[in-house]
Order: sequence, then structure tokens, then C-alpha cells
Amino acid sequence: SIPVAIVAGIGRGATDGILIKGGEYLETSARISAVALDKTGTLTEGRPYLTDVTVLDPALDRAEVLGWAARAEAGSEHPLARPIIDAAAAEGLPVDGLPEHTDPVPGKGIVATLDGRRVTVGNLPLLAAERIAEDNGAAAEVDRLAGLGRTPMVVTLDSRVIGVIAVADRVRTDAKEMISRLHVTGVTKVVMLTGDTRRVAEAVAAEVGVDEVRAQLLPEDKLTVVKQLQGEGHTVAMVGDGVNDAPALATADIGVAMGAAGTGVAIETADIALMKDDLLKLPQAVGLARRTVSVMR
Ligand code: ADP
Ligand code: MG
Repeated sequence: SIPVAIVAGIGRGATDGILIKGGEYLETSARISAVALDKTGTLTEGRPYLTDVTVLDPALDRAEVLGWAARAEAGSEHPLARPIIDAAAAEGLPVDGLPEHTDPVPGKGIVATLDGRRVTVGNLPLLAAERIAEDNGAAAEVDRLAGLGRTPMVVTLDSRVIGVIAVADRVRTDAKEMISRLHVTGVTKVVMLTGDTRRVAEAVAAEVGVDEVRAQLLPEDKLTVVKQLQGEGHTVAMVGDGVNDAPALATADIGVAMGAAGTGVAIETADIALMKDDLLKLPQAVGLARRTVSVMR
């Protein structure tokens, strides 16, 4: 039978908006020693806004570059899609209607067919995957924008670079406090995982105080980092939104999904769901687990 303390702990969590999916997860949570945090949508608000549109094809203008990008993103659920679509709509560009075909490339970007033309929006690895050698200055522009802490995306049309757009995301106000409280509860390693560039990642990392940064990761690399931490003897909690970190969430000892930022799927498959979009619920959950288990001993 399930110990009374565990039942009480789960009940207490539920009252506080911490949904623990079973007694075994509460017991495992008491041992958490490393926490891996996805950046976009977890440490940051996940509501980035458009900052730049750089035109790299002299035959086109700003509206065309933004317009192609926005229409390509119309079929995407990625947090980067929204600000691009919203900015285009705000500039009066037509953004309703879905592409004939879209193909999300995890950790890289999106490939779409629009009016029979191939449009891509994504990072430099996507450009490489598309085998586009003539970059029209895209790499230099990506570098410049990343240096400003923004997330740059290259836009291509029929295998030609037409521009670079960038968005910026705000770091959550409670991210720093969450990490310091995790340290207080005895978590010795807090690692930020992101598919974003190293420079954007380091700008965020410096602001929130993580112990380690892993940038430019593909979804499967996130899983590898979780396994590495486990290999070092850590009991690992992974927090993400499930958009591209589902494999890492599943592999972690405890997969944690966050309320409003999380997708429905992430909430369903998580071991712990934090029902409010409040990062401080995470150290609270670890503290609850530790206290509950210590009462049982
Ligand atoms: P994170 O790990 O921070 O959640 P992702 O792995 O989702 O980031 O994405 C990594 C990078 O891939 C993004 O920073 C962006 O450059 C590119 N990318 C992914 N999806 C898209 C998209 N729909 N549109 C444009 N770029 C994208
Ligand atoms: Mg993500």
C-alpha cells in the first residue's frame, strides 16, 4: 500500500498547483540533484517579438521578406513563429491561409511550399541542410544579430537567401530566483539546454545564473545531455515545453511540464506538471518531495 506521507504529499502538491502523477515520482523527486532547463518558453517568456528584418536580395523589399517568412511560419507551432506572423499582420501583410505544405525541421527551422515555391526560415544549420552555399551575407548578419542577444533566422526563397529576420525574447522575471532556490534545496547542477546560438544562450545564462550552458543542441542532443548527467550519477529533472524536448523529458528521471507555456501533450506525458506558469513552483516541488520523504524515514 502507498505510505500515508506520500498520499499527503501528493495532496499537498495538488493544492499548490503541483500535479505529481504518482508516488514513485514524488520519491524520485526527493533525490533530484541536477535540473536541466529548456531555454525558450521555460527560462524566457516564450513570447518573443520581432526586432529586425534585413533584406539580402536587392530585388526584394522588407515586406516581401517578412511576408514570405510569416506565411511559411503559419503552419508552425514553434514559439518563434508567432512573433513573425504577428509582426507581418501588424504591417498589413496577408498572413491568413496555410502553406500548401510545411515540414518542421526540429532544432533548425521550417520548410514550406507557398504558391509552388520553396520557402525556408531557420538557422545556419538549416541553410547547410538545404545545401545553399551562396549566403548573400547571411552568416555575417546572423553573427551580428546573435551578438546583440537576438535570435536570427535566415529566410530563403527557391534556394536563394533573401534576408535575415530576428526576434528577441525576455527572460522571465522569476527565472533567477528559481535557480537560486534550486541551489538552496541542494540541487548542485542547473544546466540550460537550447537549440539557440551560443551567444544568445550565454546572454540568458549570465542573467539567470545557471551552472552550465549547452547551446546549439538538436532535440536528440538534449536527450544526450540528460543521459550524460545521469551517467555522472545525478538524478535529473528536465523542464520543458514539449515542443522539441519531448525525448529529453521522457528520458529524465523526472519530466516536468509547465502550465500555460506547456503544450497539452507535455502536460499529459510529464511526471510532474506545474499547473501555473510560475517557475518558483519547481523548487517548491523539490522541497515538498524532500520533506515528504524525510518524514517517512
Ligand atoms: P530551444 O531549444 O531554445 O527551445 P529550438 O530547438 O526549438 O530552441 O530551436 C532552435 C533553433 O532552431 C531556433 O533558435 C531557430 O534558430 C531554429 N528554429 C526552430 N524552429 C524554427 C521555426 N519554426 N522558425 C524559425 N526558426 C526555427
Ligand atoms: Mg523549446
